[in-house]
Amino acid sequence: MAALKACSALVTGANRGLGLEMVKQLLEARCSNIFDACRDPDGPNSEEYLPYLRTAAKAKGKPGMSCDKAAVINISTDAASMSIMPVLKEPFPFFPYSISKVFKNPKTDGLQKIIKESAKKVGSLLGKNGLNLLVNNAAVLPQKTLLTATVEDMQSTFNTNVIGPLFVIREYLPYLRTAAKAKGKPGMSCDKAAVINISTDSASMSIMPVMKEPFPFFPYSISKAGLNMLTIYTARDLKADEILCISIHPGWVRTDMGGDKAPIDTRKSVEGLMRVIGSLTEKQNGAFLDYTGKTMPW
Ligand code: NDP
Repeated sequence: MAALKACSALVTGANRGLGLEMVKQLLEARCSNIFDACRDPDGPNSEEYLPYLRTAAKAKGKPGMSCDKAAVINISTDAASMSIMPVLKEPFPFFPYSISKVFKNPKTDGLQKIIKESAKKVGSLLGKNGLNLLVNNAAVLPQKTLLTATVEDMQSTFNTNVIGPLFVIREYLPYLRTAAKAKGKPGMSCDKAAVINISTDSASMSIMPVMKEPFPFFPYSISKAGLNMLTIYTARDLKADEILCISIHPGWVRTDMGGDKAPIDTRKSVEGLMRVIGSLTEKQNGAFLDYTGKTMPW
């Protein structure tokens, strides 16, 4: 399969788990502009992330700050304090708020506004080549069933797993369009412009009924099925722009979400994801794949 050649990428949920491994492998693939979106870059969930970013920035080997070294996008509840913070400067001036506080807020107007502000800021750094790759990776997995899920569980899960990705796609669309046009040749690929929605086998309406083990994550599976429909719509609506969109299942992976019993580690999952993403063409637009490239049943 083709190697990933995207030169600019934005990954949500980049401070741990699969998102962090994606950022690492994008850097290894010499992706030059990587925007890591996370809600609390110096919080307790980011123990591995912060030292990693500092090392990555130093490895660039030239003085100064720029987003082609390493940058964190921190999206606050307070739109005025939304910022992109290059990581070389000490002390690291993180804001204490988080995208999750926004996503938990049912007032989605506010959420859209803040994502819009972040997109403007990122757009001003991207320049004429736009954004090649947008990865909607951040998600939550509340342990709730048909009988125990509350209205708040359903709303907050949808906010993070569906509504957040929807507005991220919408607000970053101008930069994806710029990238698609800048490529100047027909067809679709991730080094042109692509939206990758990280989904799950548990969103599959064919797999769920025959799953042997109990899966008490009702709001998660339902929201990810919604994310899959977002993929279908996005693929259809952005086809004329030659921006491709897929849903992809990363496998069952050892992360905080996947737990210790998962059979594969983040390295293996993301190597697979990157291979698949790197090989995408218009033939896969609107597809639901897994990290090995296999087509998943909806
Ligand atoms: P983790 O739980 O390890 O990481 C989740 C990431 O999402 C963290 O960066 C977290 O940030 C971020 N996040 C959670 N809630 C919010 C929010 N409200 N706003 C912004 N960011 C948020 O998960 P994985 O790395 O395992 O999962 C990554 C993706 O892969 C998800 O989409 C998941 O559904 C999917 N997936 C994972 C599987 C697995 O086995 N691991 C299986 C199938 C799919 P913070 O640190 O601040 O909480």
